Amino acid sequence: MTELLFRDDAYLKTATARVVAVQDGVVELDRTIFYPLGGGQPGDTGFLIRDNGDRIAIADTRKSESPGSVAHRLAAGAESPQVGEAVAIEIDWPRRYALMRLHTALHVMSCVVIAPVTGGNIAPDKARLDFDIDMTLLDADRIAHGTNELIARAVATESVWITDEELDARPELVKTMSVQPPRGVGRIRLLSIPGIDLQPCGGTHVANIAEIGAIRVTRIRNEGRRNKRVEIVLAG
Ligand SMILES: [Zn+2]
Repeated sequence: MTELLFRDDAYLKTATARVVAVQDGVVELDRTIFYPLGGGQPGDTGFLIRDNGDRIAIADTRKSESPGSVAHRLAAGAESPQVGEAVAIEIDWPRRYALMRLHTALHVMSCVVIAPVTGGNIAPDKARLDFDIDMTLLDADRIAHGTNELIARAVATESVWITDEELDARPELVKTMSVQPPRGVGRIRLLSIPGIDLQPCGGTHVANIAEIGAIRVTRIRNEGRRNKRVEIVLAG
């Protein structure tokens, strides 16, 4: 099991950790600030830093095959740390912070376009949601304006934990049909943007939606009968 430090504090840029396993170019640590790919948010990149100052590049982060563990993938040609070694860990913060801002922006936008979400993806420079909706109901200016009006409320976000049973009793919370919340661990994490949005999400978010700034809608495209895609970028 890897202790997921980003769960309690998404703003950790550095930490210390101990190497618990190294195999096939993958490093597992006892604790991590690296977010593993999931829920449409890519895995973090960054460095493990050895006592002698050597920087070991991490090219990607995924959920490990062993449940509850995180796999830090070494960049091609990177040296391997030793099991038991203490290392400093550092994520590519500008990249992660852009992902956090765009990820949180998608939560807000999902409250402007009222339709089931059939897909989504976040990259450092753009993000998108797919909706099961009639194309004629999607207007780029209206979506951008509505989203930016909500962002301007400058609301603080919070994590809320509920049980599987509580979620079953409130199926309306699950907007994203393609990404079901993880089951079986007893508790499910919700992201709350009070007065705007509440939905299961294990990703990393900004502490206050004002940090998003504003968004622009760059593209609306028909990607299939149930996938009308709205793509956004940060405006500043
Ligand atoms: Zn989220």
